[in-house]
Amino acid sequence: MAETVGGSCLCGGVRFEVTLPFTRAIHCHCSRCRKHSGAFGLTVGHVPMSQVHVLQGEELIRVFEPPGGRVKAFCSVCGSSLFGGAWPDGEMAAVRLGALDDDPQVRPIAARVRRLPRTVGRVARRRAPALPGRAAAAHTRKTGRQSLRARAVSRGRVVRGSATTSE
Ligand SMILES: [Zn+2]
Ligand SMILES: [Zn+2]
Repeated sequence: MAETVGGSCLCGGVRFEVTLPFTRAIHCHCSRCRKHSGAFGLTVGHVPMSQVHVLQGEELIRVFEPPGGRVKAFCSVCGSSLFGGAWPDGEMAAVRLGALDDDPQVRPIAARVRRLPRTVGRVARRRAPALPGRAAAAHTRKTGRQSLRARAVSRGRVVRGSATTSE
């Protein structure tokens, strides 16, 4: 039998169960998730909708769809954020990992990392030249410009990680 993890809202009115595994998990710090949580954002696990089962309190769940963002489904009694994505009709569900009562067995990655911290940027620049020493100088003289990647690194615009989605 597949392993499951239970979840619930703060007041206990809504109870649900997720069949593992989650396909991935992210920390989303977008402005909508910050507003919705009143904090740093939301930590979300993605899983096919067919793996989420609301056991109790489905009638308590309200859905808000912010302009330009994914839905926020929450308990109308206590306000706990429970689901996102295209809840309740989409193919994939986004489950708030903070609402789970046990280990989701997935580790979140950061999403929407648009800028590297300055110190990291300096390290990246020091390591940046693709061509060593004279070859790099000759290359710059010949072409009159740095490679696109070198310029992106020097401007601190290189985005690390592959997650660019948000909730
Ligand atoms: Zn509740
Ligand atoms: Zn978000």
